[in-house]
Amino acid sequence: MRTLEVAGEKCIGCRACSSICAPLHISLTDVGNRRTIAFPASCEEDCDLCLRACPTGAIAFGAGPGKPLTLEFELIPCSKCGKPFATREEMAFVLPKVSKVLGGEPDWKGLCPECRREESASGLRVAI
Ligand code: SF4
Ligand code: SF4
Repeated sequence: MRTLEVAGEKCIGCRACSSICAPLHISLTDVGNRRTIAFPASCEEDCDLCLRACPTGAIAFGAGPGKPLTLEFELIPCSKCGKPFATREEMAFVLPKVSKVLGGEPDWKGLCPECRREESASGLRVAI
């Protein structure tokens, strides 16, 4: 049996693994400001996509008995519309990397993807 060994302390709740898992063995649910990710004890599919997609190296395969794992995260609200959109851990992981590339914090720092798109579009409209 190939077990799925997830280091909960390394997981940032980014959903890369659940998004890439075609058979949906890894499930993600967002309800209000809570994100729940449920990992199975094992996976016998001929696949290693979740392991490769995980940005923090939280997933490994093993041969032990294995057990399912459920992790819970708080989602932070968008600073414009208030919709919960990302985990604190995810933002803390991503922002320093983005800021390093940009040479400063991005102006969309607290925005959800929809509000970020809106802001970009209104910026373009002003420019035009
Ligand atoms: S190995 Fe592939 S099929 Fe199995 S849990 Fe990971 S992404 Fe899903
Ligand atoms: S890809 Fe890695 S860090 Fe992201 S939710 Fe899955 S296990 Fe956690």
